Amino acid sequence: MGLRRSGKSSIQKVVFHKMSPNETLFLESTNKICREDVSNSSFVNFQIWDFPGQIDFFDPTFDYEMIFRGTGALIFVIDSQDDYMEALARLHLTVTRAYKVNPDINFEIFIHKVDGLSDDHKIETQRDIHQRANDDLADAGLEKIHLSFYLTSIYDHSIFEAFSKVVQKLILQLPTLENLLNIFISNSGIEKAFLFDVVSKIYIATDSTPVDMQTYELCCDMIDVVIDISCIYGLKEDGAGTPYDKESTAIIKLNNTTVLYLKEVTKFLALVCFVREECFERKGLIDYNFHCFRKAIHEVFEVRMKVVRSRKHQNQM
Ligand code: GDP
Repeated sequence: MGLRRSGKSSIQKVVFHKMSPNETLFLESTNKICREDVSNSSFVNFQIWDFPGQIDFFDPTFDYEMIFRGTGALIFVIDSQDDYMEALARLHLTVTRAYKVNPDINFEIFIHKVDGLSDDHKIETQRDIHQRANDDLADAGLEKIHLSFYLTSIYDHSIFEAFSKVVQKLILQLPTLENLLNIFISNSGIEKAFLFDVVSKIYIATDSTPVDMQTYELCCDMIDVVIDISCIYGLKEDGAGTPYDKESTAIIKLNNTTVLYLKEVTKFLALVCFVREECFERKGLIDYNFHCFRKAIHEVFEVRMKVVRSRKHQNQM
């Protein structure tokens, strides 16, 4: 959610539809509620609801209770290049309404379009928005509501990184995935590993070593290169086939003795690792460990499918 022209549709198009940021200049502003299912193309099994800015909570045709009851995360986009007082008032109204219906929603605030701000200005804007939003909640006696803040822009990778964090909070198996990644990298001499949703370039888990932005950006670029090359040379002449399948794998050697290694894990997920050249000489070991890792990931998600199926079954009875 967010005011009109704050950047909601642009974020959705850039993250989930590979639209280049410059093309968003020509997007029509959102003026009706749009719902999109991304579960067919992405690991992230969710729906996005794009709300126009000026939603009227008193409009009887808008059943916000129904929507908020089933919501995991509410992302509120604030245009940092504009006067944000009206946005803050809207944020407060939205958050308090949503919290009343469903206190388990994660409230995620994107302080957006920060590409236009200097570094000092970014920090100052974040501090100011953080302070005002929390003061408003405290005044209403709702300091128990937790808001998370992210500085984002569609012109760099910050929007992907913020979306990754939002999605990770919704993945129940996250500790298990992190644990598997930790075991995998420490037994294979790997520096860093990310589990990526290939379509959106959201990373759904990584090992517990710190994430640095440059490493993450390199991984995103690698996925783009692999998918682009596959689209050009990997499909059959009639266009049949998919650019990403069980056979998908790639190795890119950088000139700083680092190797990037990508491998398919599931239909939607890929593992991207950073390995030092001398460790990559033991590729046989890495591949063997990867085989075990992949099997474990499949088991984790099979358990999830079983739980979902048995819940559905119970609901039907
Ligand atoms: P919506 O009404 O909230 O869906 O807003 P739009 O997605 O239509 O975006 C409004 C305008 O903001 C468009 O011209 C976008 O190009 C621009 N915009 C979106 N994100 C960014 C960003 O990160 N930085 C900058 N500078 N402009 C952005």
